[in-house]
Amino acid sequence: MAADKLARVKDALKSFPDFPKPGILFRDIFPLFRDPSVFNDLIDLLYDTIKESSPGVQCIVGLESRGFLFGPLLAQKLGVPFVPIRKKGKLPGDLVSVTYDLEYGSDTFEAQKGSILSGQKVVIIDDLLATGGTMKAACDLVEQLGAKVDLCLVVIELADLEGRKKIPKPLKTLITF
Ligand code: AMP
Repeated sequence: MAADKLARVKDALKSFPDFPKPGILFRDIFPLFRDPSVFNDLIDLLYDTIKESSPGVQCIVGLESRGFLFGPLLAQKLGVPFVPIRKKGKLPGDLVSVTYDLEYGSDTFEAQKGSILSGQKVVIIDDLLATGGTMKAACDLVEQLGAKVDLCLVVIELADLEGRKKIPKPLKTLITF
């Protein structure tokens, strides 16, 4: 049952206060990968969410770096391409880019031209939504390539930070803290 799978995934997560700096409660998803059956539960839950909320999806886009842990697996199961969005300087070739604000300073996301086709129906996936800046930037980048963001999907949403308000597209999350 979905509720049981969700409970097992939630139980496997670990929280680390004051990491990577004071005041941040870091939500660590890596422990769930130590148990293949819990990893399987997570993939099932994400797969079912995509099937229900984005039927006919044509491309899965994963965000560096933890979006790369489950994006390719989901794309493979769905029979569609997987495309990475990476931080500046990591991807070769002709690129499109978007610069977005962080708490201190800014960062740049890049994608390869031609990696996502114009008009394609896309699901963007990442591990966690905090302020929403990262996911918003990814939406902007996908739309720069002429594709349509059909769904933004994260495992964990930190509701207090109200990142959801920044996301201009449908957003689904499995676990809310
Ligand atoms: P944001 O742009 O503020 O929504 O931040 C989202 C990105 O930062 C995601 O890629 C997360 O992996 C990472 N992140 C932000 N806050 C946390 C947290 N409390 N625990 C783990 N990862 C986080």
